[in-house]
Parts: sequence; C-alpha cells; structure tokens
Amino acid sequence: ATPTALMVGTGRGAQLGILIKGPEVLESTRRVDTVVLDKTGTVTTGRMTLQDVIAGEGEDTAEVLRLAGALEDSSEHPIAQAIAKGARDRVPAAELPRVEEFANIEGLGVQGVVDGHAVIVGRVRLLEDWAQPLSADLESALRTAESEGKTAVVVGWDGRARGVLVVADAVKATSAEAISQLRGLGLTPIMLTGDNAAAARAVADEVGIDEVIAEVLPQDKVETVRRLQAEGRVVAMVGDGVNDAAALAQADLGLAMGTGTDVAIEASDLTLVRGDLRAAADAIRLSRKTLRTIK
Ligand code: ADP
Ligand code: MG
Repeated sequence: ATPTALMVGTGRGAQLGILIKGPEVLESTRRVDTVVLDKTGTVTTGRMTLQDVIAGEGEDTAEVLRLAGALEDSSEHPIAQAIAKGARDRVPAAELPRVEEFANIEGLGVQGVVDGHAVIVGRVRLLEDWAQPLSADLESALRTAESEGKTAVVVGWDGRARGVLVVADAVKATSAEAISQLRGLGLTPIMLTGDNAAAARAVADEVGIDEVIAEVLPQDKVETVRRLQAEGRVVAMVGDGVNDAAALAQADLGLAMGTGTDVAIEASDLTLVRGDLRAAADAIRLSRKTLRTIK
C-alpha cells in the first residue's frame, strides 16, 4: 500500500463522516471478520427515559422515586440521568433530598445515604447481601420489563428492596440496516453489553444480531475481545462509553461513536462522527476499495 493512495482513502473517509487516526488504520480493517457492538449508545440512541415506577407492597411510589432520583443525580450514567430527570418531572412538589454519601459501583449501580437512609439503585446483584432480596411482585415487574428490551433496576434502602424503575431508549433507526450491511461484507456481528440478557436479546432481535454476550462487567469487556482474538478472530469493536475504552484499544480495529465519550474516542482508531452505525460498514468498504486500487 502506497502512502498516497492511503491518504486518498482517509480523505474520502472524512467525506463519509469517518475520522481516521492514521493512514495505517485502513490496512488493519482489511482482515476484520467479527464486529463486536456495544448496545447502549451504539446500537441504541443512549438517550434513556424513565418509563415506569413500580413500588413494592406497602411502599410509596413517590418515595421510591424521590430517594432514587436524589442518589442518581450524582451519577453521569445515562440510566442515572433518566431516573433523576424522571423524579423531577413526576414529583415536582418534592425537592430532591440532599445526598450525604455517594459511591458509584461500575457496571452495577450506585449507593449512598439519602435522608438518613442507606439507599442503593442498580442491578439485583447489589442486593445480594440483604436478608430479603426481592419480593415476587418486584421480581415479576423486573422480568416483564427486561423481556421487552427495557432496563429495569432495583431501588432499595435500609436492607430492603422497595421498588423497580424501568428505563429504556430506542434502537437507532439506522442500526438494522447497518447490521445487514456488515453481514453483507462477510462480518459476524456480536452484541456485547453490561445490560441483562433478556433486554439485550430483545434489542439484538430487533436489529438482526444472533450472538449476544450480556451482563458483562466493564472490566470484563476487554477480556471478551481478547478471548475472541484467541479463537483466531480479527475483531473490530464499536462502542461509545468509558466502559468500552479498554476493549476498543484491545480490538484489532476500534471504532468510537462521535456522539460518545472522549475516552472512547481517544482509545479508538476510527471515529464515526455522526454516531451512525452505517459508517462502520462504509469504513470497511472504503478500506477494502482503497487497498484494492493500490495493489
Ligand atoms: P452498557 O454496557 O450497556 O453500557 P453498563 O456497564 O454501564 O452498561 O451498566 C450495566 C448495568 O449496570 C446497567 O444495565 C444497569 O443495570 C446497572 N447500572 C450501571 N450504572 C447504573 C446506575 N447509575 N444506576 C442504576 N443502574 C446502573
Ligand atoms: Mg454504551
């Protein structure tokens, strides 16, 4: 590959809304056979909204929302922002109480002290140490939401699960077409997410992805990419979040959503400026064409 032809390739990339870190990047896209896709913010818009609030028996919906909203207000996570905004919109009379202590538990949720209560919001796993993990009604609310492709998190305080909050975002209008284009280029798409398996499955079905690896903790995303590479695959990874950065760097080709975090963009070889997944297929097509021209 001559430098001049590769430069032409990168120029064309810019027209397509693809920022390429260096001309040598196009070379490494050629052998890619697997595309690993993060779910939230990559296949979906990542703009989450609060859809439903379910209080457990004897619990007050407004109180569930007030304490959860206050705690999540301290977190940048898209789920957290949706819950904090939902709390403000739905309980306008109540000021969100002050948070006395706060801790973010990567890939699981948040915990802290609000109004004198020890509050947690997040995956069921956060409740593991509690005496009464989850009542049947909350368990069933959780399962229903997840089977619909939504994300459900548990709210608890003082050793007891009190409610379930359902958040969801929409699949991007262009995602299904992008997946079909990637398949057309002979690539195998795999969805990789920290979200629960049922929600991930529902989204994957909607866009035409067969293989799903779900409930992966942020630090384990990079391990998953490594394992696929050890199987002899040449892996492209597409992601947007802080939790995708290590996996993006590990992949043979890292593609960041331009709408995502700076950390993800810095860790990647390519940036899809408009956050449109179809640009991933454009990038691979372009590199093949560029390299063919100069052979
Ligand atoms: P993804 O891989 O889809 O970007 P994350 O790794 O960021 O997801 O989060 C995985 C899961 O952990 C979420 O689906 C959610 O159940 C839970 N979680 C993470 N952060 C929070 C939070 N601030 N509040 C509630 N739940 C959270
Ligand atoms: Mg994401």
